Amino acid sequence: MSAAPTKNLPVGTAETAEYWAGCKRHELLIQHCTDCAAYQFYPRILCTACSGRSLQWVRASGRGTVRSFTIVRRAVSEAYAAEVPYVVALIRLQEGPTLMSNIVGCAVEAVAMDMPVEVVFDDWPGGVTVPKFQPLSR
Ligand SMILES: [Zn+2]
Repeated sequence: MSAAPTKNLPVGTAETAEYWAGCKRHELLIQHCTDCAAYQFYPRILCTACSGRSLQWVRASGRGTVRSFTIVRRAVSEAYAAEVPYVVALIRLQEGPTLMSNIVGCAVEAVAMDMPVEVVFDDWPGGVTVPKFQPLSR
């Protein structure tokens, strides 16, 4: 009777449009302040370190470490049922900012604190591309 459940898709804003465009090109973009040299994520109109407006988009290394994580074993809705178990993690990028994402490319039990990871991109139906992280391949 009802349509198939759908995932929650990110909704872009004026501040995040460039970030999502970068994801689509498989580039992880963060903001860099040319006044104080701070990096920041998520995207904002002001620098969180100096309140300046001299922000530019730069391509992040895509590498970081796992700062915290949880293993999701019960899907939040039917739309995610096929994906459990999966890992939701906070990744601290080499540049400093922290972002929330998933760890993929390994068993959920293999994820550990301070694990080195690198970004990969997941192209979803509907034209949205999201960054995820996998164990760093050296
Ligand atoms: Zn600044």
